[in-house]
Amino acid sequence: VAGPCAVESEQQALDVARHVHAAGASLYRGGAFKPRTSPYSFQGLGEEGLKILARVRQETGLPIVTEVLDTDTAELVAEYADCLQIGARNMQNFSLLKKVGRLRKPVLLKRAMSATIEEFLLSAEYILSEGNYEVILCERGVRTFANHTRNTLDLSVIPYVKRISHLPIVVDPSHGTGKRMKVLPMSRAAVAAGSDGLLIEVHDHPELALSDGPQALLPEMFVQLMKEVRLLAPVVGRTA
Ligand code: PEP
Ligand code: MN
Repeated sequence: VAGPCAVESEQQALDVARHVHAAGASLYRGGAFKPRTSPYSFQGLGEEGLKILARVRQETGLPIVTEVLDTDTAELVAEYADCLQIGARNMQNFSLLKKVGRLRKPVLLKRAMSATIEEFLLSAEYILSEGNYEVILCERGVRTFANHTRNTLDLSVIPYVKRISHLPIVVDPSHGTGKRMKVLPMSRAAVAAGSDGLLIEVHDHPELALSDGPQALLPEMFVQLMKEVRLLAPVVGRTA
């Protein structure tokens, strides 16, 4: 799954989409509704962003993963998206979890920054218990005392999830590290640890990005990542 943090304009979204599609991404990501720490930061283009995502799908054929921020806009997002992302900050928004459980679209559930594995899996259970069984877990790093990294990517949850759950789990090394130079090594590590997929932020002008520029891969870095993952996956008994 690859694409920018946020949909910023039609041009930006389509340019990044052409790059990641050519490099072999299977799904496109991009937020139209963004959960931002500051209310003064870019909040996303809203419905206009969803329309741009629909154009990306039309042009590239890539299914769209985009965030559902609240129950008010959940149905609107579900009209456009192929997969609904629940962000880390909403992992325990139980009314939102129940809502997406009734929407019948696959859900990508991100682990909250301080969630235990029990809390993570019980949040997934809120979606499953409403009858939506298409849940993908996503490890995106947890908050620790480490200050060399935005978050601490907890790859040790992968074997644990594999042991106690049937749900697929993917890894987001972009938010998990916060720095583009760390994304490729941690992607390799995630694949080696058994991740079922990767969620990668890509931007063709990260210095101009309206959110998460420092962790966005340049398109050529994403090409390299795909190349390495394709080489590595068979070594650990997976296909890419
Ligand atoms: C995102 O995927 O851009 C995002 C906001 O992620 P998280 O909820 O993991 O911080
Ligand atoms: Mn982001």
